[in-house]
Amino acid sequence: MSEIQRAYPGPAPGATTGPVPAQSDALRLLLKGTAVVAGLTHIAFLTLFHWAGVEAMAIINVASVLCYVWTFWLAHTGRIGMCWVVTALEVLAHAILAVWVIGWDSGFHFYILLVIPVAVITDFRPLALKVLVVSILTTAYLGMDMLLLRRPPLVALPTTVIDGLHYFNVLGTILILIFLAGYYHYLMSKAEANLREMATTDPLTQLSNRRAVIDAIRDEELRMQRTNTQMSFVLCDLDHFKLINDTHGHDAGDEVLKAVSGVLSQGVREVDHVARWGGEEFLLVLPGAGTQEAQLVAERLRQRIEALRVRAGSEELQVSMTFGVSACHPGETSENTISRADQALYAGKHAGRNRVVLGPLAPEPLPQA
Ligand code: GH3
Ligand code: MG
Ligand code: MG
Repeated sequence: MSEIQRAYPGPAPGATTGPVPAQSDALRLLLKGTAVVAGLTHIAFLTLFHWAGVEAMAIINVASVLCYVWTFWLAHTGRIGMCWVVTALEVLAHAILAVWVIGWDSGFHFYILLVIPVAVITDFRPLALKVLVVSILTTAYLGMDMLLLRRPPLVALPTTVIDGLHYFNVLGTILILIFLAGYYHYLMSKAEANLREMATTDPLTQLSNRRAVIDAIRDEELRMQRTNTQMSFVLCDLDHFKLINDTHGHDAGDEVLKAVSGVLSQGVREVDHVARWGGEEFLLVLPGAGTQEAQLVAERLRQRIEALRVRAGSEELQVSMTFGVSACHPGETSENTISRADQALYAGKHAGRNRVVLGPLAPEPLPQA
């Protein structure tokens, strides 16, 4: 199994459909909510038309209510595509019939305009189907406009009732537009946050990855220059980790990495950064800390790692880590300071591992000409 497969395990071979993803649950809920609101609105219309004596429209609204009971059931049972189609057809048919029977001024045609952006945003496949749906809706709206705009209604309702329906539909359309735009914005922000998290977080340990910590170091460098304070780096690496993988398996190795990550992040201050720098190598950024404090932190962590016991199956694993420490020298780049921590780590490995080693001194800056 490759490292990527291990980090993002897919369904087991032969596995049947897994749990429905959260995104689809949210969509189902949205469609169910839409069916309830639309169903209740059509019950109100039904009552109104019955009261106004327009029985044809009352019957159309009974059909609409039944349609929304159906779409509720479709959403509840996860048949999302069918639910969209039935909802769109109901809106289209209802709008055409209402405008035909009680006139353009009733404003029922606005609802067709709402379905067009929803059809564009929805993940219709293939693309030709999406183009077809949008074309049908656009043609239907333009056709209604041309044929029904100036045609007198079949049933002439009192002006107050038509005005009431008109403003109800205008307001309803605006509210639905606000809701749709807000919901779309919410989905976009959520997707953006997920992408940002995936781009900056190591999936196994949940620590910052190399890219994220480099960004954090840039910020800390600016702060350091502004406040004229120090910053130290601690580079640490698990000892003989390959042996753990070879002896106990890669999954046991992963458990060790997770447990060690926990110890490292719990053993530093809120303001410090802990990142997975490479395979079994971690970088700690300690803003405001000089060499001595960084050495103390590293020694404390070394002892905690040594005392750590990681359960892997029936076994308990014990590990150790080697630490290289260096503090930023005035005028020195972070890359250089980290490179000195790396040299210290290398020296620590050669000296027998499981120790904290201070990096070589930074070269003196060249005198200004
Ligand atoms: P040293 O004490 O000199 O650091 O020896 P080492 O065995 O720790 O170092 P080496 O570089 O030889 O081996 C590192 C191993 O870490 C090899 C690699 O497969 C393993 N490794 C890297 N990333 C992961 C991971 O995400 N999970 C697991 N289980 N192993 C990993
Ligand atoms: Mg190692
Ligand atoms: Mg290594």
